Amino acid sequence: MQTVLFHSTIFGPIHSRRLGSSLGVNLMPDDGKVCTFDCLYCEAGYNAQGAGTTGLPTRRQVADALESKLKQLHAEGAPLDVITFSGNGEPTLHPDFAWIISDTVALRDRYFPQVKISVLSNATMLHKSDVVEALRLVDNNIQKLDSAKDDTIRLIDRPNQTSYSARRVIDQLKRFDGHVIIQTMMLRGSHDGVAIDNTTAEEVAALIAAYEEVKPQEVMIYSIDRKTPEEKLEKVSKDELERIADDIRRHGIKVQVSA
Ligand code: SF4
Repeated sequence: MQTVLFHSTIFGPIHSRRLGSSLGVNLMPDDGKVCTFDCLYCEAGYNAQGAGTTGLPTRRQVADALESKLKQLHAEGAPLDVITFSGNGEPTLHPDFAWIISDTVALRDRYFPQVKISVLSNATMLHKSDVVEALRLVDNNIQKLDSAKDDTIRLIDRPNQTSYSARRVIDQLKRFDGHVIIQTMMLRGSHDGVAIDNTTAEEVAALIAAYEEVKPQEVMIYSIDRKTPEEKLEKVSKDELERIADDIRRHGIKVQVSA
């Protein structure tokens, strides 16, 4: 099994296929993973590896580490496009997520006012009003929806909330009034002998119906980039992603493709 953890709270800048030169912020442990999903394709590996020993960084530790790195990059005149919350799990699980976003906005405004703030989230904490309010403050509020069908999400993303429902997530995403980007990993393969494919006509039609309801500013569809914990997954080709993107665009939705 492939496991690639980020061993610090601040990492990079790294080149992101979708976002450009990106300074990463990992609000989860440095030596383990904490997530409400356990995706078959997660680059951080399966949740079974455990949460590690370091615990979550405090709000103060995040602000200090971020300020120190932004100061350094500013002094070097380094190019930076975006500050991205991702890392070893789901960032909105951090109990001080909303405060950390507000600190980050202040630091961004002080050192790199032109830089965007992105959050990559799996949309499982949108029942918390402070999380939703914080996400309204970021430039790129990127929320995962890999299928509009519960059965497929349970196969691919494996949510640990028994109450997870795509219907509820779609309703929660609608409340952003368009201030949201939906990201969808397109993949096929199998896991434990069960076939997986969210690229079928039926799956894509259900996703398009969900996108039409949410009216996001953009949809990002993408494919596997590195080795995945489940090795029986197949990378969907760029041509196929482009065909799916064209289907989505016919419904008046902006789509970005990363392959
Ligand atoms: S939501 Fe993200 S961090 Fe969590 S398991 Fe899936 S890919 Fe990994």
